[in-house]
Amino acid sequence: MKIIMLGAPGAGKGTQAKKIAEKYRIPHISTGDIFRANIKNGTELGKKAKTYMDQGLLVPDELVCDLVVDRVAQDDCKDGYILDGFPRTIPQAESLDGALAKIGESVDYAINVEVPDENIVNRMGGRRACVGCGATYHLMYAPTKKEGVCDACGAELILRDDDKPETVQKRLGVYHEQTQPLIDYYSRKGILKEVDGTMDMEDVFRAIVGILGA
Ligand code: ADP
Ligand code: ADP
Ligand code: ZN
Repeated sequence: MKIIMLGAPGAGKGTQAKKIAEKYRIPHISTGDIFRANIKNGTELGKKAKTYMDQGLLVPDELVCDLVVDRVAQDDCKDGYILDGFPRTIPQAESLDGALAKIGESVDYAINVEVPDENIVNRMGGRRACVGCGATYHLMYAPTKKEGVCDACGAELILRDDDKPETVQKRLGVYHEQTQPLIDYYSRKGILKEVDGTMDMEDVFRAIVGILGA
């Protein structure tokens, strides 16, 4: 099962992708997580990506596409995977489709987690990320047991730099301009599935399981 998660920044793609990966036992591949890990480790890729991420811009396609195409060719992806945060542009989608077509495969589902812009600012302002393991929480909707401390690993929680309100507005603009066209792209391919992302996390998950099958 090869799944793509679509949706605005903060729509809940990562939250749902983790749950889906667990239930269906497929790898969760988040390009944002891959870039953040590279930044943390001080790699060349991380240095390049950071300059774009800090400004709320997309990292250029040429830095993203090969990375993902290589990743999904790995052994643990042979029974499927869930892509979270990729593709984000039409050329990225075409690059993935092209790579899959070469081996006679294609994406099975593109799940669009639909959340209006006015809810997004609230979602992002309350999002907290663990500096240790990258786990994501929310001050109101997914609080930790102990304030400011990761339930999973005990490390400190932070507000991501790119989740500050000015950058969120920028990212939303970039989303509408560069990523939203993918909704049409996958709709034309007949694999688009829409989910109301304003519901509780558990209800959103139930809706997705309803689409993918139990
Ligand atoms: P969110 O989950 O809030 O949508 P991500 O963690 O997916 O954010 O991405 C953080 C940043 O990483 C993006 O704003 C962008 O700069 C960069 N990024 C992640 N995935 C991609 C991609 N597929 N193409 C280009 N840039 C990306
Ligand atoms: P994305 O990966 O699309 O950027 P996240 O999964 O990181 O989004 O979710 C953004 C923020 O909103 C996080 O703090 C998360 O805990 C919270 N969140 C996710 N889904 C919901 C939901 N259905 N209702 C309320 N808050 C949510
Ligand atoms: Zn942690």
